[in-house]
Parts: sequence; structure tokens; C-alpha cells
Amino acid sequence: MKEYHKALLRWYDNEGRVLPWRARGEQTINPYHVWLSEIMLQQTTVVTVIPYFLSFIQRWPTFQQLAEASLDDILHAWQGLGYYARARNLHLCAKKIALDYTGKLPISSDELIKLPGIGPYTAKAIAAIAFNEHVLPVDGNIARILSRIYAISTPLPNGMPEIQSAATAFTPQTRPGDFAQAMMDLGATVCIPRTPSCEKCPFQPTCKAHSLGIAAELPLKNKKKTRPQKYAVAYILKREDGGILLRKRPDKGLLGGMMGVPTSEWQVKKMEGKDIGRDAPFITHWKSLKSPIHHSFTHFDLEVEPYYASICTKEAKILEGEWVLPHQLNLYALPKLFKKIIETSLNQLSPIDVV
Ligand code: SF4
Repeated sequence: MKEYHKALLRWYDNEGRVLPWRARGEQTINPYHVWLSEIMLQQTTVVTVIPYFLSFIQRWPTFQQLAEASLDDILHAWQGLGYYARARNLHLCAKKIALDYTGKLPISSDELIKLPGIGPYTAKAIAAIAFNEHVLPVDGNIARILSRIYAISTPLPNGMPEIQSAATAFTPQTRPGDFAQAMMDLGATVCIPRTPSCEKCPFQPTCKAHSLGIAAELPLKNKKKTRPQKYAVAYILKREDGGILLRKRPDKGLLGGMMGVPTSEWQVKKMEGKDIGRDAPFITHWKSLKSPIHHSFTHFDLEVEPYYASICTKEAKILEGEWVLPHQLNLYALPKLFKKIIETSLNQLSPIDVV
């Protein structure tokens, strides 16, 4: 092993973050914990994930128990973590592992990648951390470190293949799982964007970007394209007793299978005039609540205009969906978008409208 590998592992043993899914010292690695944490950490910060991770392992301590849970319970426990497709895939994956793999994760990244919710990065991260496979998962943090160590100046994402091949050459055969976690920690705490703390870094003697004085500038990135904008109308339909109509969204697509207020199709053109009621759950006069809600997804921004109408109990009976009183809304696993829509809308309704 090269001197700088040893230096990083020494640094990790002394300075690495203590995280509830990590085995330290004499502890044995629990692959279920590694898998669960890696799925939760996709697009989510460590600080946010910790309480969810702890509550999941307490409630469902094994693949088998998670596989036997209901999807609704899982979605409810996932509430607030966002990107709900992960929760659905988590359940599918647990069921597959319980049924097809006798409750044990396959140990290679080539097998792991075949499971629901596991992409190339997650497969490598699990295989390295849980099973010591000789691979280095390259996320944004690790890409930054490697681009600096090798002074790779091709802007991202085009520079990614160069960084990936550097990763393969860079990973030691000894303790590859700890090495991957050490790189994750170094990227999160020392080799950070804009102001790297090179004086604390075990790679300093070998880092090209540091010796050239360009560390803070790397990695270079292609200019961001502006995200496409989409528009929708949300229908807040209130029954005489104050109940609000919620419907389950179609299983496929964004927020698939989640509960929410009915919306129009999400489209690139803003709906106007008589088009407003086109996708409404009920034909009536819909009143605008004026303040649009803005929400960003990974690939587009959404502007939702809430519209409001009331309905008598008799007419409400024929509509498909669930009528939920405002104080019962927290019993439902509502995605952030729908929470925002409902909260903003209820705040705008006059006290006469709110029962
Ligand atoms: Fe990053 Fe500085 Fe360490 Fe190089 S020396 S890897 S730029 S922290």
C-alpha cells in the first residue's frame, strides 16, 4: 500500500465520522444497515438521514421484517426524506432479498446493481463498505478529491470518465471499504468545495492541485443549463364538514402512489381561462387562491396554482378519493409538495371557508 493510502486510513481511524450505520473497531459490519443508509443517503444529507435510519432499524431490524411491512407504513415513516421512489424501491428490494436471496444481500457490485433502487454508485458503495470489494464509489465529494489530486481540468460532467478511471487506479487492495468511507469523510470535512483545508489533508504531499495552487478552482464544471419550468393547477375541494379531498396518484411517474390533492396534468404551458377546471375532480366554479406554490424537482421546476371550491356532503359521496379533516392530514404520508400546497391554501382561505 502506498504511503498516502496509509496516511488516509490513519486519518480515518482517528478523525472519521462516527455514524450509526458504521462498524468501528471490533464491531461487525451489518450489510442491512449499510444498504439502508446508502439508499437513504441518495440525494440527502447525513444529518437528515440519521434520525430516519435509527427509527427504521428500530422498527424493522432486518430485511425480512422490512419486506413484511406495508408500503403505506414505509412511506409514512419515510415522510420528510423526499424522493419517495426510493421508499418504494426499498420495499421492493427488501422483498426480493427476503424471497430470492434468503434474507442476505448479494456480495458483489455486479449482483447488487440488479436489485431495485440500486444504481452503479450505490452498488459499489455497498459492495465496498459491507463486503470489502475492491471498488471506489465516486460521488460528488470523491470526484472533487480525485480531480484535485490528479489536477484533472476537464469540466464535469465530461471529466467523469477520467475521474472514474483515476478512482480504479487509486484504490488500495487493503481495507477498500474503509478507504471508500475515508474518502467520503475527507470530501465532506477537509477537501470541501471552494475552501479546502489542505493543511489538514493526508494527501497534501501528493496532491497536484495543491502544489499548483489551483485546489479551490477544481473540479471545473460546465455551465448549468436552466431547468425546464412546468405548471399545474391544484384543486382544493372542501366538503361541508371541512374535509379535503385527497387522491392517490397513479403508481407510475413522479410521486407515484403518493396521496395528495388532485392536480391537473403537469405541463409546460400555464393553464388559463376555461382550461383551469379541465382536470378537476368536480365540475363547479373554481376560485383562484392567488399565491402560486413553487417547488423544484431534480429535472424541472414546478409552479402550482391552487384553486378552491366547496361541495356538499351528498355530492362528495360520489367522488373517488378520501376526505380528510385538516387535523388528520399528518396521518398521511404526504410529499412536501402537497404539504406546501395544502398549508398555503388553508392559510389563504377565509375563516368562514375553514370549518
Ligand atoms: Fe483536497 Fe487539498 Fe487534500 Fe488536495 S491537498 S486532496 S486539494 S484537501
